[in-house]
Formats: sequence, structure tokens, C-alpha cells
Amino acid sequence: MDMRALLDWYADAGVTTAEAAGPANLYDWPEGGHRMAKPGAVFRAPPPRPDPSAKSPAAPTPAAPAPVPGADQVMPTDEAVALARQLAAGASTLAALIEAISGFDGCPLKAGARNTVVYDGVQGAPILVVGEAPGKEEDREGKPFIGRAGMLLDKMLGAIGHSRSQGDGLGDVCITNSIYWRPPGNRAPTKAEIEICLPLVERFIALSAPKLIILTGNVPTQALFPGIPGITRTRGTWREWANADAGHQGAAIPVLPIFHPAFLLRQPGQKRLAWSDLLAVRARLEGASA
Ligand code: URA
Repeated sequence: MDMRALLDWYADAGVTTAEAAGPANLYDWPEGGHRMAKPGAVFRAPPPRPDPSAKSPAAPTPAAPAPVPGADQVMPTDEAVALARQLAAGASTLAALIEAISGFDGCPLKAGARNTVVYDGVQGAPILVVGEAPGKEEDREGKPFIGRAGMLLDKMLGAIGHSRSQGDGLGDVCITNSIYWRPPGNRAPTKAEIEICLPLVERFIALSAPKLIILTGNVPTQALFPGIPGITRTRGTWREWANADAGHQGAAIPVLPIFHPAFLLRQPGQKRLAWSDLLAVRARLEGASA
């Protein structure tokens, strides 16, 4: 494995920082120090111990590497949520909100991500798709849903005459996620990560003011409708979203949870149900424009 591939492998596994002045003996680490820390935490080797066999007792202990200011500080969740709310409330346009999200440092996932992934497609489009979190390809490119699941999502939308791409003349879909940074190793986002991003996601919806929202899978469905049953029971059932705190004005927006395309790739037998959900989206949009 060459060095570049090795570093990529570490980054994908969520190793955010490599620091040590020299080799570290893991058996000398404090209790629990070798275990995986919480997401966003930084591993730091302890300062080298004095060598008891050294001849001169006066030999100076080598200095520990100077800590990088702020590198190991993870903002407490409630502070991060408060900051996200403040940024969301202060953004009066989508452009301002997108900039605020990119500059937001409250989510610990950011430390291990290559890019902030906010949206793709047409800002303010009539159809807004909210997914889960960026994966490897999305993290690399800075755009949501561009891997295999994204290709299936594009096919699903195309089958009912919609697209995120402005180049093909349709261009009526905007795609975003519940989390703006890739969880390491594609693990599921934690409750705290979802909570931290939620004020920004809700403000994104309010400022987009779509005619209809599609939620792909459990993560966005549970984020926007906490406590509702799992996706197998909620898919295909219309809900309504309105949140005055997020600055939403006017009528509630119809929302349809559907199976996540990544799930459909694993369970192609469920595509039949996804197709019936897509037909429901089409009918609803036709009704809205009639
Ligand atoms: N899955 C998601 O939910 N979002 C992405 O951006 C990619 C895969």
C-alpha cells in the first residue's frame, strides 16, 4: 500500500489527526487511551517517559509536542445546537445559509471530513429531497448523492420526469442531507450529530419553500418527525412539515418518506413499493399544478 492510499484509508476510517513526536508504546498509554475515542476526538500520544536506564539522572526529559490550540476541543452538543440555531436564524437567503453551514465548526464530524456537503441541484426547486449523510464519494466531491445510491436516486426521479440537473431541461429538484459531513467509515450519524445539524436543515427547508419534500430513509424522517415509527411503516404515508421557528411561512409542506436508495440496492425486491411512492409524488405534483 503506498503512503497516499494508507492515509486515505485512515481518513475513511475516521482517524482525524496523527500526532506524536516519535513512536509510542501503546502499553504505556493511560487506561482506555488506546480505545476508539468519541467521534471528532483527537488521539494524542502521551509524552515520552524518562528512560530509567539512562546514565545521567539530570538528563532533561524531552518536551512533549506542543498541543495544537483547539484541535482536541469538541464543542458540547447544546452549545453547538445553540450556535447552529443562531446561524440559521441569521441567514435570510439560501446563499447566506449555505455559507454559514460551510463555516460552522460545531459538528465534530467536520474535523474528519474532506468537504462540507450542503446541496446539489436547483436552489429553491419545487422538489426537495433530504437524505441521510454524505458517503465517501460525496465527501470527496462535496455534493450529495453522487455514488451508487445517488445514481439510483437520479433514475427514480427521472422515471417520474424530474431531475436535479439543469442541463437536461428539467432541473426541478434540490437534494440535501440531514448531516453535512461524512461520518467516518459510513457509520450511521449519532443522535447528537443529527441534533446539531437540524436547525440548519430546517432553515434550508424553510428558505427553499419547496412544493413537496421527499425523505429518503429513517435518518431524515426521524430528524424531522421525532419518534414516528420506522421507515418500513412510514414510507408511502404523507405527512406535513411546518416550523415557524425555522422561519417557515405559509401552508404546511407535504412530505413523503420513501425507502433510501442504498436500501433498495441491497433489497431490490422493495423497488416495487418505492415505485408506488414515486407515483404518489407524481400525482401530488400534478394535483398541485392543476
Ligand atoms: N446517502 C445519503 O443519504 N446521502 C448522500 O449524500 C449519499 C448517500
